[in-house]
Amino acid sequence: MRQPLTILGGGLAGLALGIGLRQQNVPVTIHEAGQYPRHRVCGEFVSGRGQQFLERLGLGQALANAGAVPARTIVLGSTRYISNAQPLPVPALCLSRWQMDARLADEFRRLGGDLQAGRRLDPSQVGEGWVRASGRRPAATAGLRWFGLKIHARKVPLTADLEMHFSPMGYVGLCRIENDEVNVCGLFRRETAEATGPTDARQLLLGLPGSPLHQRLARATFDDQSFCAVAGLSLQPVRAAVRPEVCIGDAVTMIPPVTGNGMSMAFESAELAVAPLVAWSQGECSWPEARREIARRCDQQFARRLFWARQLQTVLLTVPLQSPLMALAGQAPWFLRMAFARTR
Ligand SMILES: Cc1cc2nc3c(=O)[nH]c(=O)nc-3n(C[C@H](O)[C@H](O)[C@H](O)COP(=O)(O)OP(=O)(O)OC[C@H]3O[C@@H](n4cnc5c(N)ncnc54)[C@H](O)[C@@H]3O)c2cc1C
Repeated sequence: MRQPLTILGGGLAGLALGIGLRQQNVPVTIHEAGQYPRHRVCGEFVSGRGQQFLERLGLGQALANAGAVPARTIVLGSTRYISNAQPLPVPALCLSRWQMDARLADEFRRLGGDLQAGRRLDPSQVGEGWVRASGRRPAATAGLRWFGLKIHARKVPLTADLEMHFSPMGYVGLCRIENDEVNVCGLFRRETAEATGPTDARQLLLGLPGSPLHQRLARATFDDQSFCAVAGLSLQPVRAAVRPEVCIGDAVTMIPPVTGNGMSMAFESAELAVAPLVAWSQGECSWPEARREIARRCDQQFARRLFWARQLQTVLLTVPLQSPLMALAGQAPWFLRMAFARTR
């Protein structure tokens, strides 16, 4: 007889964990506030070790059938400069969250998981037998505020599978996804007291007039249904060991999105949690022991990456450095290779 587990949050981390546990015959219920399919603010670019966990879960074919496309090349741009296309050090997988979350939810249900969608639960009830996979924790809004926007578009002439355009406000990524669509996703910052700047959030995604980004999107047609926004993002790294509950994915800590590695961390943390949770479910360890082991594994795997991701984000968002850095990245493949190696 195995003890059942409950997961708060049916995003990527919660669903991947649920699938991993069902494959070991653990009874699992996931509570998800939203419904599937749904749009999420995300660059929709999966890069890093989490891709291998998706393969190990046997999801590669389902995601390919849903239209996942590989990304093999990247260009980097500022408001004045755009680099040549470079090969990505490791190819990435690109699929809308509309498809990705729904395919994972289907697989969880197919394996006999109980998915309760459409009701937000109080996170304070997370205790023994519960895993918190409820995504980012909203941050206080003093000082710099970070917010994200996303929309899907067509008729966007890209010169690489992924384009990253940096500006004084933040950056916008353009990424090819399924059905010849392009994901247009940006992370922006604004001082709490700042009252200037576009009031139409979508204008931010279009870039400054005259910039390479603005030119790319000049003739684009947008899928208004896909537009979404998220605010109150905390980009301060947090150690899993200080969290009182079992947490995975962004609920532990959020890696700066500029790395394109948050989804991978969600999948990786789910994989790291499977064995300790199966051991608890079989009565082989106590809940505090399982919690400590999951936190230890996560901190060991992520602490160094979170440190480097923070340095990378600071450098890339330092406005006077943006054009020289984009030029360097376009001419010196070691720069991209180093940035990838340090954050993955
Ligand atoms: C602007 C931006 C761009 C990004 N681009 C990329 C990228 O290109 N590549 C990449 O790898 N990562 C990217 N990320 C990060 C990535 O989106 C996250 O790291 C990833 O979604 C984390 O997965 P998760 O399952 O932890 O959280 P989520 O995907 O946020 O899922 C959490 C789930 O929990 C549910 N939930 C929350 N509270 C409750 C509650 N009380 N009751 C019930 N359900 C609840 C939510 O509805 C949600 O479905 C980006 C992030 C941002 C902000």
